[in-house]
Amino acid sequence: MDNLELLIDFHKNAERQGPGSDTDTLLAVSISRLDKEQPLRIADIGCGTGAQTLALARHTNWHVTGVDLFPAFLQSLQEQAQQEGLSAQVSTLEASMDALEKQGEGWDAIWSEGAIYNIGFRKGLQLWRPLLKPHGVIAVSELTWTAPDQPEEIRQHWQEAYPEVGTVCEKLAVLEEEGFQVVGHFCLPPSSWEDTYYKPMEERFAPFLEQHGHSAEALSLVEGERREIELYRKYQHYISYGYYIAQRKG
Ligand code: SAM
Repeated sequence: MDNLELLIDFHKNAERQGPGSDTDTLLAVSISRLDKEQPLRIADIGCGTGAQTLALARHTNWHVTGVDLFPAFLQSLQEQAQQEGLSAQVSTLEASMDALEKQGEGWDAIWSEGAIYNIGFRKGLQLWRPLLKPHGVIAVSELTWTAPDQPEEIRQHWQEAYPEVGTVCEKLAVLEEEGFQVVGHFCLPPSSWEDTYYKPMEERFAPFLEQHGHSAEALSLVEGERREIELYRKYQHYISYGYYIAQRKG
């Protein structure tokens, strides 16, 4: 198994592949002022196994299309949607988030939790804006500094891992520059990292290592995740995901 296959294997049975919670998703829905009763067309880009896709479908009449690069994640989402009787509202699309122009315009909203970083915040906004209806909504979570004067250790870690990491003010400015009017924003609380993401992930470490015979590659993956968790716990005052809700201007 190569490193990508290992990564997919590690995450495919998880409820979430990134920080977030149903409470966060539903807060973004309420900030968006989108009509929950209407059968709106929503794309959830980089949906993973679809925790937020399902939350959107459960609490609205929207039709939500989960978009991801990896079929194993989409299959898990489809199975869960079927179990919950949500198949009529949830569909999936195996595609890369930087090649969605063939899907055409006309989405009422684009959701994306913890995924836009794969192509970068600004580039994602540039590529996804034309896919929205005029005045369509984007709701996106993005790694954000939550306090100034970050200690060198955490600053260096995230600047190397994701050079676009920035403050709330910087993210709001990018949204405005790229043709969006900000409707609202908030930062994910520590429970959305710990309870729904890091703690369930820690429980998967031992069985994952066992399953892969403690191979060097599996150990390296687990060590990388352990390091990120350790840094988050030490410096959570300085870093979180910002959740940004904005409307396409025109
Ligand atoms: N939104 C999910 C969540 O919060 O649990 C998943 C977040 S995970 C950190 C990022 C997701 O982006 C993964 O599911 C990954 O497969 C997907 N992804 C990465 N690169 C992609 C690309 N180029 N196109 C589509 N999806 C991609």
